[in-house]
Amino acid sequence: MNAPLHRGVCPGLSAPLPTGDGLLVRMRPLGAMPLAAFSRLCALTAEHGNGIVEITARGSIQVRGLSAASAPRFAADVAALGIAAQDGVPILVNPLAGLAPDDIIDAATLAAELRRALALRSFTAKLSPKISVAIDGGGGPNLDAVAADVRLHAAQRLADQVLQISVGGDAASATPLGCVAVGDGVEAAVRLLDVLAKGGRNARARDIVASEGVARFHFAVADLVLGGTTPNFPCRPTEVLAAHRLRDGSYACGIALAFGHADASMLQRLIQSTEQTGARGVIAAPSRCLIAVGMSSDAVSDFIAAAQRLSFIIRPDDPRRRIIACAGAPFCASGHIATRAIAPRLAETAAQLDAGFATIHLSGCAKGCAHPEKAALTVVGSPEGCALVADGSARDAPFAVVATDELPAAIANYAREPNKREAHHG
Ligand code: SF4
Repeated sequence: MNAPLHRGVCPGLSAPLPTGDGLLVRMRPLGAMPLAAFSRLCALTAEHGNGIVEITARGSIQVRGLSAASAPRFAADVAALGIAAQDGVPILVNPLAGLAPDDIIDAATLAAELRRALALRSFTAKLSPKISVAIDGGGGPNLDAVAADVRLHAAQRLADQVLQISVGGDAASATPLGCVAVGDGVEAAVRLLDVLAKGGRNARARDIVASEGVARFHFAVADLVLGGTTPNFPCRPTEVLAAHRLRDGSYACGIALAFGHADASMLQRLIQSTEQTGARGVIAAPSRCLIAVGMSSDAVSDFIAAAQRLSFIIRPDDPRRRIIACAGAPFCASGHIATRAIAPRLAETAAQLDAGFATIHLSGCAKGCAHPEKAALTVVGSPEGCALVADGSARDAPFAVVATDELPAAIANYAREPNKREAHHG
């Protein structure tokens, strides 16, 4: 029986969290990491941890397999690399903030101001560790697909830049509160986070909106909200896996880690190849991506070819991108199924399915860490086997439970005939 562990904590380097595979640490780098520093970080992962580097849905870097003895050494060695990283409330910005030619505002600068303001507020200690803020400066790739408790989205309104603020969701599902001046963005975010802190240690914006509406959030920022029309923001996630021209004329290019993790040695080999392209750094980006920045246009194809040779994901339609998997057993002590071992087989199944059959979420248990939202199909590890949930989350009721070996066939059946899902009851 897997012992329940204390969860809901986002462990920084100095606060490792026990998992099924030793201790886990998470870091949130700020901007581009120099290639040599990232390569050394990968090497340290193998020296002190299990040699696997994870990039999460929010673009954090996770390392597992540390011990009580190795975790402090790992933290000290990483600190010596001088990689800028954020602590406190996670604040996400466009991965190319400050570099993209289409930035309306520099989201990285606004995020730094917000971090400074929050460092002075004691209420942040009362926030749920899951709380996050997304600041979208308007430049691509955007954050539309990333869920956050508080969102600030830059827009041009006639001659002025404004921030549309919203709470509890991704760009499509968050509840809008109106527009504020860019200069009031920090104050608006602080007040909205204060509302969340007053809601208790587990309060999330999405849950407050669902249970009592948006009045408390509206009230908190009412005097900051500008009159006049509110720009319309269609939710239009932009693709990270592409070449992006930067403001200085150089290029960035994104690749993804299959199922969100990669061997440190493979990443080091990728960095060796990346050095030959003239790139100056890499950015850990949302959706489990890594973006090399500062290449010439001619070098982009070399970078993509190197990433492909090393089995990284280079195309948005790669079927591995349709599978979202958490660490699962044995890496997480709560996992009932070996999600990382199963994921490649499900990707083969997904490759046979209609492209319209979207995301399959593979979750080691009902917690659903890797994808709290709904998925077309969610596979949940349970003591009885793999529970299948249609168009729901890992916490929803399954329509069938099957053995791991039966998963590919059960998924193919379901994808072909979703309306007959009752036929699959185990
Ligand atoms: S969802 Fe996955 S990573 Fe999260 S607790 Fe369960 S098994 Fe562990």
